Amino acid sequence: KPQGYYYVPDPSSQGACTIGGNVATNAGGPHTLLYGVTVNHVTGLEVALANGELVQVGGRNAAEAIGYDLTGVLVGSEGTMGVVTRIWVKIQPLPPVQKTLMAVYPDVATASNAVSAIVRTGILPAAIEMMDKLSIQAIEAASHAGYPLDAGAVLLLEVDGTPEVAEDLGERMARVCRENGASEVRVARNEAERQALWKGRKGAFSAMGRLSPDFYVMDGVVPRTRLPETLAKIDAISERTGFKICNVFHAGDGNLHPLVLFDAFKPGQYEAVLRIGDEILKLCADAGGSVTGEHGIGLEKRENIRYVFSDDDLEVMDRVRRVFDPQCLMNPGKVFPGEGLEPSKVPMPPGYPRRQPRAAVAAGEDVWV
Ligand SMILES: Cc1cc2nc3c(=O)[nH]c(=O)nc-3n(C[C@H](O)[C@H](O)[C@H](O)COP(=O)(O)OP(=O)(O)OC[C@H]3O[C@@H](n4cnc5c(N)ncnc54)[C@H](O)[C@@H]3O)c2cc1C
Repeated sequence: KPQGYYYVPDPSSQGACTIGGNVATNAGGPHTLLYGVTVNHVTGLEVALANGELVQVGGRNAAEAIGYDLTGVLVGSEGTMGVVTRIWVKIQPLPPVQKTLMAVYPDVATASNAVSAIVRTGILPAAIEMMDKLSIQAIEAASHAGYPLDAGAVLLLEVDGTPEVAEDLGERMARVCRENGASEVRVARNEAERQALWKGRKGAFSAMGRLSPDFYVMDGVVPRTRLPETLAKIDAISERTGFKICNVFHAGDGNLHPLVLFDAFKPGQYEAVLRIGDEILKLCADAGGSVTGEHGIGLEKRENIRYVFSDDDLEVMDRVRRVFDPQCLMNPGKVFPGEGLEPSKVPMPPGYPRRQPRAAVAAGEDVWV
């Protein structure tokens, strides 16, 4: 950044995660609405394969991008094809001006409809993030960022460009927000105010400690237009089960992060929140969305992947994986469900264990995110 350039993907976990993990999960972040996810910013990889070979796919030059996009295949493969040891990324000039706005809404349904209205105008902001009432309370208690405690939901929006463009986009954005139910639109007046608003959003997950000893974060996607009904259904799950659920998420992408609050030391709560997570992912898939937006599948969601992929789909994915790792030695057990998938025809060494049927979230299993 001191030289005026930056690498765009900005996962909220950036204080703790690694670029290798970002490549493995094809990480996104608030600003991927306009600029794309990790795969759109990686031009090449060096990968250690299971047989010990070190290979390079893509690279820093355009000529290296000719042929099949193997970089694209490896990004998001969650370490099941090889260990990424070197990464070439694009950096781009910092936008001259970034303008951040906070729009205040009475409830998440009105805020969700405003998101669709914003996108319909043809103005695509760099980021549109949503936080619901419970999240606002946690964030404000933790970071004192100036979020309104009486709001039902807030949208955090960012536009960027030259000073004139950013000013114009900011004004248009504020107008659309007001026309679609915002009771107030605040514009950060300087970099300190802008940073304070983002600090609140980026620290939202850790702020949950103000509300509950533990939380279970989900990562699902729904088409933007299905946000209001999906959030209402999540609310109904919360009512029915008695577990509070906060929503802090990338609204512009329809990438939900419901946070189920619980206490792992209370008997039965851990198992109950896993069931709630499963129900939420199912309703995302049923709404035409997906069971992950950016956190990946890992061990935790390897059964949920069936909500979006058929056995045939999974078989094809398995074959692609085995091109890189014929014996499935890399990150075994991750991503693919443990049952119902016929073993691939690719020969296996004698005695190599085949995947066994297994519940994804057996009671007491140590699955954390
Ligand atoms: C509070 C919080 C906020 C988050 N916010 C976001 C967000 O805004 N956007 C987002 O996309 N994600 C987010 N995440 C999820 C997570 O941080 C990201 O998916 C991140 O990219 C994972 O990187 P990591 O270094 O932590 O990887 P790990 O969790 O250590 O690993 C993830 C997977 O990648 C594999 N892996 C790691 N390194 C390599 C490598 N070098 N080569 C091959 N495989 C590898 C691991 O084996 C594992 O399967 C969030 C998580 C938390 C806890």
